[in-house]
Amino acid sequence: MKFETLAIHAGQEPEPNNGAVMTPVYFTSTYKQNGVGKPRQGYEYSRTKNPTRLALEHCLAALEGGSFGLAFASGLAATDTVLRLLNSGDHVLAGNDVYGGTFRLFDKVLRRFNLGFTFADTTDPESVADALTASTRLVWLETPTNPLLRVTDIRAVAEIVHAHPNRPLLAVDNTFATPYLQRPLELGADMVIHSMTKYLGGHSDVVGGAVIVKDKELAERLFFLQNAVGAVLGPMDSFLVLRGIKTLPVRMDRHAENASVLVDFLARHPKVEKLIYPFHESHPQQKIARRQMKNGGGMISFLIKGGRESAVRMVEAAKLFTLAESLGGVESLIEVPAAMTHLSVAGSQLDVDPSLVRLSVGIENQDDLLEDLRQALEYA
Ligand SMILES: *Cc1c(COP(=O)(O)O)cnc(C)c1O
Repeated sequence: MKFETLAIHAGQEPEPNNGAVMTPVYFTSTYKQNGVGKPRQGYEYSRTKNPTRLALEHCLAALEGGSFGLAFASGLAATDTVLRLLNSGDHVLAGNDVYGGTFRLFDKVLRRFNLGFTFADTTDPESVADALTASTRLVWLETPTNPLLRVTDIRAVAEIVHAHPNRPLLAVDNTFATPYLQRPLELGADMVIHSMTKYLGGHSDVVGGAVIVKDKELAERLFFLQNAVGAVLGPMDSFLVLRGIKTLPVRMDRHAENASVLVDFLARHPKVEKLIYPFHESHPQQKIARRQMKNGGGMISFLIKGGRESAVRMVEAAKLFTLAESLGGVESLIEVPAAMTHLSVAGSQLDVDPSLVRLSVGIENQDDLLEDLRQALEYA
């Protein structure tokens, strides 16, 4: 079946007892057993397995072209569980423009457990080759990145990583693109990671994360860790993401359509110093983006003239664009990453320009969005 059909049906069957079309929210922590050590249908305890979560996990696997999906309490919980595949002394090579919270987890938490991290420019596959060491076990990519929308050629990096004698695992954070726009497993990645808080949920009402893999042995190690560490997604949140995913294709098309109208406007605006959008002709990796993504997505970043003051005045003047962190919901959001989402990387090599403004373009009417940006830019 094709993507749009899978988004609505994968992992979901009408409930056998009463025919309910929507997957029920199984609010249960435990399950009656048929006899000692004889669980029914493999359900014993909801940290290990819950039917609502399982439906979502099957759906995620289908959408990413994987074989196994795992749902977690947040994107960072998913990331943390993946990192527990490693042993003390192992080295991780990560992109130098990863999500601020990912950087903080790697640099401020996991370093204390004797994992080594190098942050390299993954948009240049050669610099990935140069930064691999004899102890590298994991390569962590994000594409497009948050907030600079840098694009990495997943296939080119996969070839380099897999040619290395260690055969490190390649993980791709696919939060910004979603499986509708880009499927990293088909381009050679071993694992896909999501913050489902963003486009997969799509309605700014849930925090969740996911890991999707193809390989059975890797999946078994991750399922062990998911249960042993315990940062699982609850049944209500699983239901909300399942529901959100049903409209993912139509939402993503509209996000991108609206974004392209705003991109044309911003590219010509005298107060915009530099526009960043993966499918815009000025983007340095535009060709790669067009090859590996279906459309340019709903995220736009731009540098505004007049520095931090100007950026702050503009975002505070926006009315329809809500001043808020996060992204990927149906409603448009605006923020200044250096002072908000990316404060945790201030002073590090991932530092963000204070005049950068990030838009998460929603699916409201294009003219209303344009009008709001037009009036807000007058305050810049
Ligand atoms: C938000 C985000 C995360 C973290 O996910 P949470 O659900 O907030 O824990 C990871 N990667 C990217 C690209 C994100 O935007």
